[in-house]
Amino acid sequence: MIISMKLHATREAIDEVRKQVEFFGYKVHSIEGEERVVIGVVGVGDVTACFESVEAMPQVEKVVRISAPYKFVSKEFRTGRTRIKINGTAGAEFGGDDFVVIAGPCSVESEKQIMQSAEGVAKAGAKLLRGGAFKPRTSPYDFQGMEQEGLKLLQKAKKATGLGIVTEVMSDRDVELIAEYADVMQVGARNMQNFVLLKALGKCGRPVLLKRGLSSTVKELLMSAEYITAHGNPEVILCERGIRTFETVTRNTCDIAAIPALQELTHLPVILDPSHATGKRSLVPALSRAGVAIGADGLIVEVHPAPEKAISDGAQSLDLVQFAKMMSELRPYVALWQEARKLETAAVAQ
Ligand code: PEP
Ligand code: MN
Repeated sequence: MIISMKLHATREAIDEVRKQVEFFGYKVHSIEGEERVVIGVVGVGDVTACFESVEAMPQVEKVVRISAPYKFVSKEFRTGRTRIKINGTAGAEFGGDDFVVIAGPCSVESEKQIMQSAEGVAKAGAKLLRGGAFKPRTSPYDFQGMEQEGLKLLQKAKKATGLGIVTEVMSDRDVELIAEYADVMQVGARNMQNFVLLKALGKCGRPVLLKRGLSSTVKELLMSAEYITAHGNPEVILCERGIRTFETVTRNTCDIAAIPALQELTHLPVILDPSHATGKRSLVPALSRAGVAIGADGLIVEVHPAPEKAISDGAQSLDLVQFAKMMSELRPYVALWQEARKLETAAVAQ
């Protein structure tokens, strides 16, 4: 942070600013010109509080923030990509040399439904199975999920197929229970700024899939990831899932540029959810291709053995045949993706 004092600021005013900055835990380095004093602020402290306090002080002309408010997740903290290995699966790793696909139904509905989904998506090449057991629904009258029974079904599907499990956690009270079953803890769009939950996930011992909020900016998404890392968990995977705009043809508006924009700002893996981003199964394959082409680290796709019977999000779910077709059509794109990653890794190593 750099503080520029007004021309001919008094010694008292400069000393007041210096004291205030030190009060917030920072060190001060000032440059004293003939007419103007510029104060450099370094160290670790409550940057927002310090910024706002100093900005309001008399004889301060301007305060400029130099480093990003998110530290651990920023590229300044780590230049290479963070690789996140998923426990107990056939080598799934986000941020590495493979494009990782998570697939499965919106909600866990029954043993038959989840077992069929798991077997089908595994055969088509997915590495992780998704399925909500705790569901955030807009209406309190809609299906709220099978809860622990659903978690047990996911565990059974994992045993049968070797797929890692991705499932949503909505409350800090459920973190411990869900962490017993999940390989990746999903934070849904509606909970991106549930700060109590984010803090609890800092201690959960599992990677977190953090979805972008419906009306959240890229920087707010990074601040939420910072909560999890600052509380002890560096394994956060970010997810673009569309944002709310005036457009109604699609359920949400996919901010595809957010993916490379995030990759410029953070070392964390970034994946795309083409299902919630569009709300329409016919658009999912094209958007998935775009996700591969733009350099996302993977996809999370909704797939259901009988989408017309799905209890939630049937309209955006592919059936197993459609998913297998999409996966095979993605193959040449994924091959190019892998080439590009290899070149990048070689360039970084030089
Ligand atoms: C989901 O993954 O089923 C879900 C509820 O997604 P989102 O939080 O992105 O709406
Ligand atoms: Mn869904």
